[in-house]
Amino acid sequence: MTTLTHPQPTQTKPNGNDAAPVPATQASPPLWLCDVTKQPITTDDCLICSRNGRPNACSFTPPILEALRASMKSDPALKAIHSLAAQQGVTVLRVSSLTGCTRQAWYRLTQGTPLETPSRHWARLRGTIFHKALETMAEKSVLAEQRFVVDLRAFGVDAWIAGMVDHYDPATGVLTDLKTMNAWKRLSSYPDLPREHHTAQVWIYGWLLEKAGLGYPRAMAITYMTMGDIRTVPVPLPTPEGRQFVEARIVAKAKAIVEADPTLGPKGDPREAWQCRYCLYKTACPDRRKPQKK
Ligand code: SF4
Repeated sequence: MTTLTHPQPTQTKPNGNDAAPVPATQASPPLWLCDVTKQPITTDDCLICSRNGRPNACSFTPPILEALRASMKSDPALKAIHSLAAQQGVTVLRVSSLTGCTRQAWYRLTQGTPLETPSRHWARLRGTIFHKALETMAEKSVLAEQRFVVDLRAFGVDAWIAGMVDHYDPATGVLTDLKTMNAWKRLSSYPDLPREHHTAQVWIYGWLLEKAGLGYPRAMAITYMTMGDIRTVPVPLPTPEGRQFVEARIVAKAKAIVEADPTLGPKGDPREAWQCRYCLYKTACPDRRKPQKK
């Protein structure tokens, strides 16, 4: 049985793509980049360095590094899904692959995730901390952090979509997604919530729930959270045509990722330049968008 957490030989899948190489962060022993030297270092050596006094004013103390390392471990349920998919020659795509840049999703699938420094990883851990805390403390009558898998082979694409909803109450039919924001202003001062790409993501979750046999949500919302504020905003339900459009887009995007030319990859399609600014593959990408001059 193959898993994503151990080195595996490259194999060609039925869709012509090579199996994704194991990300170095999931290699054994796991690696990341030293926050000070920016050179690759095993997480074990990084922790030893931290315990020995953190030279060069590194800010990462052992508990924080341990938490970062723990967050890099693959979820056992997701590992099992990947194993099963590998046996069937199917590619597993995450919901995030369907909402962002197609080329970025292809890079992640075929090249793994580039090494990161703890500083760069920290922003994501903040979101994980919120989610973990709420998952532990939330009411148990809802589907919280449940993973759903939808088979796209019925649509002619050798892919499964795996997604996890933050909060769904089958009794009320309300789907709620949680988003952490790095902001110091009051959330009421943001006129653009919910953001367009967040709405698109929640609509995909609605599609997942429906395909998983739980019915389409009757209402949707996003709870935005900062360290000092919280704001829940409704997400408009898509029209019947909108739901068809969402499904068609999921299928088209998945097809573009898994059936891309293994050498060239699909065209990058970021909506805005900031996506390229934060993209881990920007140095290699020919489609990177330059920031617009003011
Ligand atoms: S640099 Fe931009 S276009 Fe290229 S993969 Fe990243 S997000 Fe997509």
